[in-house]
Amino acid sequence: MNTLNEPPIRVMALHALAYCERLFYLEEVEEIRLADASVYAGRSLHLELKQAEDEFAEWTTFELSSEALGLTGKVDSLRRRDGSFIPYEHKRGKSRREGKKTAAWPADTLQVCAYGMLIEEETGQCIKEGRIRYHADNITIRVPLDETARKGVIDAVAHARQLRNSTNRPPITVNDRLCMHCSLAPVCLPEEERLAGNPGWEPIRLFPADREAKTIHVVEQRARISKSGDTLQISVGDSELKTFPVREVGALVLHGYPQITTQALHMCARNEILIHWISWGEYYVAGLTPGSGVVQRRLRQYQALSEPGICLRLGRKLTMAKVETALRYLLRATRGRDRQVASIDESIKTMRSSLKLISRAEGIDTLRGHEGLAGRAYFHALSSLIKDETPETLKFSGRNRHPPRDRFNALLSYGYALLYQAVMQAIMSVGLEPALGFFHTPRSSAYPLVMDVMELFRVTLWDMVLIGSINRLQWHPDDDFDVTRGRVWLSSAGRKKAITLFEKRLEETWKHPVVGYSLSYARMIELEVRLLEKEWTGQAGLFAKMRIR
Ligand code: SF4
Repeated sequence: MNTLNEPPIRVMALHALAYCERLFYLEEVEEIRLADASVYAGRSLHLELKQAEDEFAEWTTFELSSEALGLTGKVDSLRRRDGSFIPYEHKRGKSRREGKKTAAWPADTLQVCAYGMLIEEETGQCIKEGRIRYHADNITIRVPLDETARKGVIDAVAHARQLRNSTNRPPITVNDRLCMHCSLAPVCLPEEERLAGNPGWEPIRLFPADREAKTIHVVEQRARISKSGDTLQISVGDSELKTFPVREVGALVLHGYPQITTQALHMCARNEILIHWISWGEYYVAGLTPGSGVVQRRLRQYQALSEPGICLRLGRKLTMAKVETALRYLLRATRGRDRQVASIDESIKTMRSSLKLISRAEGIDTLRGHEGLAGRAYFHALSSLIKDETPETLKFSGRNRHPPRDRFNALLSYGYALLYQAVMQAIMSVGLEPALGFFHTPRSSAYPLVMDVMELFRVTLWDMVLIGSINRLQWHPDDDFDVTRGRVWLSSAGRKKAITLFEKRLEETWKHPVVGYSLSYARMIELEVRLLEKEWTGQAGLFAKMRIR
């Protein structure tokens, strides 16, 4: 009996539950559904209505709901045989093999039995069986709706309710073959979790290697973004600049003051396109994140990051990764050079001793102190990586910001603003709260969690790209910059150049040294955010382990 007056459970959700408890939780509780055509691929895809209509004479669709059973669902196919109704389920895949015999999959059995019980409630007639048609091997399996099957449905509904009221994600399934066909594997990361629990595990990449949709940066200040059918249109005055089919867009980044219509905003929200507003002075102004269902993720995050011990442990991992990556970059970039002559010897020593101190730091403030010292040493050495033939105005002689007072710092700050947006994008996609971090102190102008995750990528995603482009003489000291009263900003041309370099870097692929598979840097950011979440939701131990070689 549905005594708790809770909303009913969808029969399809019971199917997910029988497949994997965690899948049920991700879909039904956290409302994560990957809205592509293959959502249920490999599990139980229904045939298209038209196809089924052609094949079955007694096709009809019923929406049924029962308060007593606590269930709701849509019975797709119903036939009458000898005066009794028989629910049919149609599956694209194959039936289960048991030696020479064929059988239905447990999730399909549960589903057809739940439909049978709903029909019974609705019609008052006793339903004795359901049938499942597996179209890949052209077999129909008869499933008796006996006492055991009924108990299975009732128990499943009770279990589903229990999970729905929990804030804890169930563990990953022990049957790793199920994960190969699971649409939510890129969110769940079961292989990475197996690796965290067993260092000998060789994970298969179930996480997409590349971004599926573009990030569009709009830099033109008179640009207008509007909706036209299923496309986003960008125009300046009377001239149309570009049109993008909405399915190809993952994010819109508006730099300065381009205008966007309400219709376009609605379309972006409906299609889960994230929008970021960045001021001309490179501050992240706001972001639009559509959808709900992130409550459980945020509750777990609040719980975990309110623990000083967890924050210290994560802070240590983060600063180790940051300083080690910076150190490796300096060593790599000066290989074969006399480091004393290049005057980076002292910096390297400081960074090495900071690493030792970081690994032993007992408080977050101490950790920040060591990280700050290593950071200053790194920036001190960075100027040695710039070639002599670089124009003087593009050389680097120390970090300054808010506002930048030279061209190199303007480039550094702008690249970090782009990185901030890319990390924010990943955090929004994963559904974490950007205002709650573990290392940076809360500031009004920047989200601490974004600043935290950025530390992993500053060197690889911008510093290395910037130094390379400076040494290749890609920047024009006049055309790419605007200088006013000692403040230096990038001009429109400079911004476009920086965006192109940054986006190209995001597309580059790299083999993650811990999980052992290759993926684009854009995906790498998302992977690290998901691994961070695993530090408090599942197996800890894989976050912030990436290093350049
Ligand atoms: S990936 Fe595997 S563990 Fe994760 S929800 Fe899917 S089946 Fe379950």
